Amino acid sequence: MDAPQHRITLAESEMPTRWYNIVADLPEPLPPMLHPGTHEPVGPEDLAPLFPPALIEQELGTERYYDIPEEVQEVYRLWRPSPLIRATRLERELGTPARLYVKYEGVSPAGSHKPNSAVPQAYYNHQAGITRLTTETGAGQWGASLAFACAQYAMECEVWQVAGSFDSKPYRRLMMETFGAQVHRSPSDLTEAGRVIQASHPGTTGSLGIAISEAVEAAVQSPTTSYALGSVLNHVLLHQTIIGEETLLQLAKVGETPDLLIGCTGGGSNFAGLAFPFLRETWAGRMTPALRAVEPAACPSLTRGTYAYDFGDVAGMTPLMKMHTLGSGFMPSAIHAGGLRYHGMAPLVSHLYHHGHLEAVAKEQAECFDAGALFARCEGIIPAPESTHAIAELVAEGRRCAESGEEKVVVVGLSGHGHLELPAYGDHTAGRLRSSAADDPDLDAHLRGSMAALPEVRAS
Ligand SMILES: *Cc1c(COP(=O)(O)O)cnc(C)c1O
Repeated sequence: MDAPQHRITLAESEMPTRWYNIVADLPEPLPPMLHPGTHEPVGPEDLAPLFPPALIEQELGTERYYDIPEEVQEVYRLWRPSPLIRATRLERELGTPARLYVKYEGVSPAGSHKPNSAVPQAYYNHQAGITRLTTETGAGQWGASLAFACAQYAMECEVWQVAGSFDSKPYRRLMMETFGAQVHRSPSDLTEAGRVIQASHPGTTGSLGIAISEAVEAAVQSPTTSYALGSVLNHVLLHQTIIGEETLLQLAKVGETPDLLIGCTGGGSNFAGLAFPFLRETWAGRMTPALRAVEPAACPSLTRGTYAYDFGDVAGMTPLMKMHTLGSGFMPSAIHAGGLRYHGMAPLVSHLYHHGHLEAVAKEQAECFDAGALFARCEGIIPAPESTHAIAELVAEGRRCAESGEEKVVVVGLSGHGHLELPAYGDHTAGRLRSSAADDPDLDAHLRGSMAALPEVRAS
């Protein structure tokens, strides 16, 4: 038998030139975003203070495809198309008859999928005359991505970084600063939202919800400043669909049809980016893969959350979005996967999960890092802590197939590398992630509190 092709690449000229908007094909209509004051559906004029017209069109629009501007394609080509890798050494290690494929986004400038959306967001803002972008960041992945993207268009970039990550992950901050950004520890005393949280939760390690409040507050105060969000919103998920479009082309090259796709979910963007083009193919009757989201047990918005209208931030400044949520006041414990510590899930991912188009599982850190380290030893790539959640499910599925003898084709989204998160692997090696306190032993109590505080929304 011929050795299987290990690295399935596309030529630069084969890079997809359109993003796929799943809203055009949804079998059930997506509940609209609501204005936080009136509870009426949000229109383009409501979003105008925050986003440029092109992004508002992509956020609310129903076109099936949006062309990727030439100026964005040019930047994408610094690292795209990204490789699809057949994990043959992992297959051998697991003794599995399944064929395991990995779509690897760690080749980007920030080391993750996030520049796929940071670059077009910076581009459209630049086109609209915006000179400065503000944002939040957890582990620093989104901040580094936006810092890089702003550098492409000579824009300023100001980042509020969740305090826990700011303190424990200095290298991401240095990366952001190298790309030219200014970085603040959140909660900061530069904003009203930050000062309020500091007063009510002294010594807090912060959260993405708080950092979002701060970045939004800073953006609305200047007409030439906009806010950029790294996940959750429809336009962000749209930009990430280049991942799935490339994967479809790559699988076709080796004559494979997937049985299962797996991705980790924080706000849902890398998972959606991989999965949505495959849902289109499913609805067109061309394949029937299962689509499985993997989230941390300490922040389980899909598997333990409620499907309800909630705010995207802690201060209640964002529109209300119908999503799987743990409550915007939920403070996730300080797990290493900073990018998965978000109380809600993208409205599109939540909606599709609610209607049974997607599956979800939750995993604890120790299993994830076991799988991440195993994957690193086999394939030579150290997955980001977030990505280890997807890899853990890949390993679990490989083992299930080893027992059942099923020759499944499994594709996993490897959203980024963990080179700047090595202290987390150090904790794993030293056995410090084994105790249940490494996740959230008080999850039930925390959830009872935060879910009781969901906003009341008039029937819609
Ligand atoms: C931010 C991040 C995630 C989580 O964000 P999603 O929007 O759910 O994709 C996952 N993996 C990596 C490497 C990240 O940086």
